[in-house]
Amino acid sequence: MAKQEDDFKKVISHAKEYGYVFQSSEIYDGLSAVYDYAQNGAELKKNIREYWWKAMVQLNDNIVGLDAAIFMHPTTWKASGHVDAFSDPLIDNKDSNKRYRADVLVEDHVAKIEAKIEKEVKKAAKRFGDAFDKEQFLITNQRVVDYQEKVTTILKRLGKSLEEEDLADVKKLIEELEIACPMSGSKNWTDVKQFNLMFGTKLGASAETAMDLYLRPETAQGIFVNFLNVQKTSRMKIPFGIAQTGKAFRNEIVARQFIFRMREFEQMELQFFIKPGSQKEWYEKWKENRMKWHMSLGLGEDNYRFHDHEKLAHYADAATDIEFRFPFGFKELEGIHSRTDFDLTKHQEFSGKKLQYFDTEENKNYVPYVVETSIGLDRMFLAVFSNALQEEELENGTTRTVLKLPAVLAPTKAAIFPLVKKDGLPELAHEIIDDLKWDFNVIYDQKDAVGRRYRRQDANGTPFCITVDHQSLEDKTVTIRHRDTMEQQRVAISELKSIIHKEVDMKSWLMKM
Ligand code: ATP
Repeated sequence: MAKQEDDFKKVISHAKEYGYVFQSSEIYDGLSAVYDYAQNGAELKKNIREYWWKAMVQLNDNIVGLDAAIFMHPTTWKASGHVDAFSDPLIDNKDSNKRYRADVLVEDHVAKIEAKIEKEVKKAAKRFGDAFDKEQFLITNQRVVDYQEKVTTILKRLGKSLEEEDLADVKKLIEELEIACPMSGSKNWTDVKQFNLMFGTKLGASAETAMDLYLRPETAQGIFVNFLNVQKTSRMKIPFGIAQTGKAFRNEIVARQFIFRMREFEQMELQFFIKPGSQKEWYEKWKENRMKWHMSLGLGEDNYRFHDHEKLAHYADAATDIEFRFPFGFKELEGIHSRTDFDLTKHQEFSGKKLQYFDTEENKNYVPYVVETSIGLDRMFLAVFSNALQEEELENGTTRTVLKLPAVLAPTKAAIFPLVKKDGLPELAHEIIDDLKWDFNVIYDQKDAVGRRYRRQDANGTPFCITVDHQSLEDKTVTIRHRDTMEQQRVAISELKSIIHKEVDMKSWLMKM
């Protein structure tokens, strides 16, 4: 646990030191669970968003984009069920006065049991070597089977109690599992209560006439209320999708995990409209498709897993999370939900306007079913960033800190150095920049010895460093150094563009899907 915490602290301080993420309003001691993306963070975030948008919208002729407003008519949230049901179960520890999400306390307890399973697996893999059969081990080793049974029983019970809103049983479960406050170790808990997560605000000039509004807690509803407008103007035929990225706001009860759980965050969502009855098939297709998107970035197959929901949200008939191995363990990165016709039907009911599709093949009207994929951009940022940060031991006994971001997402693609600050080398370096900057984000750096400049760019995640030296003036060649392998090559300046392009071009990365 201590190592995990230590690794996570390193991620947070690296993000700050290298201009990726700052605490919001830091000079006023910050605002809890609100963060700002700095010069490098803004670029990385933009690149992740673009990587998603290309894969979802540009490459699918049956998916179009949308950019709906954050404010929506307040009835939207009555219809969607958020006013009545968008809440989390909270519990306070009476001794430490710390507040927790009751379901998260139980899930963290489960994660500890799962960690024990992983430990047993690792031990056995080491003992049996090549002959190790993980599948077989998981069903035959009694200790692991017992752990697994415990996990299943706990999650089933939690799911059932939440589904039935039996908050007293959630508390009982916490007590039976002897879960202690992670801060104080105390097991002195209050009752579990529901807490609505929506932020309210007001629209209008005077107090009497002002209208109560909510900041949207998800981007999805902007898509649903625009469903017919988009369908008609784009002349889309079912199955088709509407995709959108944008800010969402939740008054999270506990927000102690950096950009993993924020009060203002960004989502990237697809609502895919389909024929009723075909939801199982599309749900499976989108599960597969989204996992392929993740795999294309090469963060490691072992770092992802599906986690099917025991407790289904009020709108879903099937739901799964894509979980990622964050520095604090496996947690939800993306949700895939089969939302049935719940949202469109509710909006029809509350607005009195028909939200139906005329299917020319079947010659009838119906309210389409929906499969949703919803990923947090900030969580994806954290996944990419934390996975990339590595301390590497080098052959000469020293270590280097390197941010091995997928080159396609790196904020800066190349840094250009003149070997020395004279003899026309800075001028040539600037000439190279003036040519490359039309295609890539590149920077100039002439401070310190070249070795230190390399280290700085390694820690910044820059995939290429290009050094201009005296030979460059004579034969128009430079040294290009690769971040991950640290290999250096002598290449013609005229080749630089194509070398960089090959590594950072979105097409070649997305083709891996
Ligand atoms: P959690 O169980 O972690 O609270 P959720 O199941 O409520 O998440 P969804 O409503 O399915 O999340 O939202 C879709 C995605 O939006 C999540 O998979 C996550 O990546 C992102 N997300 C949700 N809440 C937050 C938040 N507070 N901060 C950052 N990202 C978030």
